[in-house]
Amino acid sequence: MLYMGDPSGAPTPWGPASLRGTDMQQVTATRADDKSRGVQTVDVAAYMRVSTTEQRGKYGIPVQAQAIRAFVEQQDAWCLVQSWEDIGESGSTHFRPGLEALLADISLGGVKHVLVHRLDRLGRTEAAIWRCIWQIEDVGAQVECCTEPLGEPGVERWLTVDRLAQSVEADYRRIVARTQSGRQLKAVNGGWPGGPAPYGYRIRGKGTFGSTLEVDPAEAGVVKLLADLVIDGGRTLVGIAKELNSRGILTRSGKPWTGTNLHRRLRGATFLGEAVFRRTDRQWGGHRTRLGSDGRPLHGESVVIPLPPILPAHRIRSFQEALAALTRPRKNPIGEYLLSGLIHGHCGRPYIGCFRSKDGLRTYRCSGWNADVSCGCVFLPADLVEEEVASHLNALLASIPPNSRPMMPLFSLAHTQLIQHLERVRSLERLAARCAEELDTLRVKTQQDRVIAAAMRQLESEQKAFDRILAYARDWLSELHNLSSKDARTTAVLEAAAPDIRSLSSSEQRRLFESVKVRVDIVDPTFRYREGTRCWTTRWHQRKGTSVPADPTDSQWSRIEELLRCRYPAHHFRSPLDLRAAFLGMLHRLRSGILWRDLPECFGDPEKVRCRQRTWLADGVWAEIVTLLNEEGEGTPVLSDEAGPALAISTGLDVEVLR
Ligand SMILES: [Zn+2]
Repeated sequence: MLYMGDPSGAPTPWGPASLRGTDMQQVTATRADDKSRGVQTVDVAAYMRVSTTEQRGKYGIPVQAQAIRAFVEQQDAWCLVQSWEDIGESGSTHFRPGLEALLADISLGGVKHVLVHRLDRLGRTEAAIWRCIWQIEDVGAQVECCTEPLGEPGVERWLTVDRLAQSVEADYRRIVARTQSGRQLKAVNGGWPGGPAPYGYRIRGKGTFGSTLEVDPAEAGVVKLLADLVIDGGRTLVGIAKELNSRGILTRSGKPWTGTNLHRRLRGATFLGEAVFRRTDRQWGGHRTRLGSDGRPLHGESVVIPLPPILPAHRIRSFQEALAALTRPRKNPIGEYLLSGLIHGHCGRPYIGCFRSKDGLRTYRCSGWNADVSCGCVFLPADLVEEEVASHLNALLASIPPNSRPMMPLFSLAHTQLIQHLERVRSLERLAARCAEELDTLRVKTQQDRVIAAAMRQLESEQKAFDRILAYARDWLSELHNLSSKDARTTAVLEAAAPDIRSLSSSEQRRLFESVKVRVDIVDPTFRYREGTRCWTTRWHQRKGTSVPADPTDSQWSRIEELLRCRYPAHHFRSPLDLRAAFLGMLHRLRSGILWRDLPECFGDPEKVRCRQRTWLADGVWAEIVTLLNEEGEGTPVLSDEAGPALAISTGLDVEVLR
């Protein structure tokens, strides 16, 4: 796994502030004492984890902190220097901010041991525990456990951790099986299996076996109001949220409504009339069902729990139809806006990606444009900014010799981890091989006595343990392989003679932007887009990708005139307008992007020139002329009236490179 600390800057390993101060002081208080005594100390970091359910029970962070503090006091010269915790993170998830920050911190050097209260704080499964231990070892520290000594590195330590990890996983499976079968039993009996009640309901007999749902009168009123607002139509989700807020209605947790939390509510069980316990159609989110490797639900079949009605059936049907129309899927996923948060307008707020549905344009908008008093920052066409940033970075990278280009630590980390882990897998294989060898020696002994039989049993169980550990080690190895080869591809792109970062995947580009600290500023705060309707000829050039031809030579002009004379009757040429001058004016305007009213006099009356251009475009004559001219020379791109303001792009690289 890669770690890079908290992307927002300072690592925040701490949970709620209330826990932070006290425990931090309690835990690290020993340091000052040791320092004052002048003892040579070994730096130790504590890692604590508490899941949401444990948090509610007695087994919280304070218990772990207390145990760790007591343990450290018993050790000579140990000194707690840091303490990291993950709150509400489950033992099986891969992403734990506290752990990530801890790893980043250890890799800076200093910390030699990571102390946990019990081994299950690292993870609830064998795979998770091993992975965690290896990650900590790979950055240079060793895991120690308050309740069980793990021993010095070597065979004993492998076997001890294997035994403890197995029992942690067995415990975990027992707990899961017990709570899951209890919930299943409740659900099939029409009770509420646990978890928060759907909006509009409350739990009667909470905590007891027979708990069921009943209508919550206050919330039911909001449900009816929501159904009216959605079915009546004419409002967006944000509009409905604003309506609720303006009526002084808050969410269940007392927060104002937003488009997002409202959408979650509207998709909930309340507006379907029934709740499904163990959904098989979802693999994430509340009430989902975990499927086993055979594709069957792991803990029991789905159970439909009918809800006491708040809305009549026909209202539920119309509601669902109206909701579907209201929440059409996003045309462009947000993840495709690579520069979200990296662009800044003059008001100082970050720009975020925004899809303009009226013309299908991807844009970046200042996050302040939607505020009560709009900040007035201009939007930016996304393609344009992304292109500009990419070419800026490409040029910047190309200006640095390939071997001294800043290869982000990010990109080499997986490779280092891979090499270290490969070494570990090899030493495990050696241990397993030696074990097998010794077994073979014992097996061929002719004299089989009790001592030999006991030794063989011992070796066989060790062999099994090594096989188990090796399986986890190889799983992780292949993951590291994948990461590392991905990184190798990225590195190849970045090291190319002419780097083209647009050939990286979106997520890789985003990572690059973040690691080189790309920042885009809008230089001119007074820039405004041109108003009025967009010129059709400009649009035609944009759509076709046709460039604006160079001014025609005399011979080219005579061919154009010939073409015009075949197409138009004589009165077309009787106007006081000099057609050749007018044509040069049209080209000039397309190239320079000026307004018609600013067209220099030498080209003729702007209104007449514009009128002629429109006629030619509508009759297809413009296309013919442009094709004719472009056959014989290079044109210039049309200057779009959507062209944005001047941008200043800066990166963390500039300083080092240009110095
Ligand atoms: Zn702004």
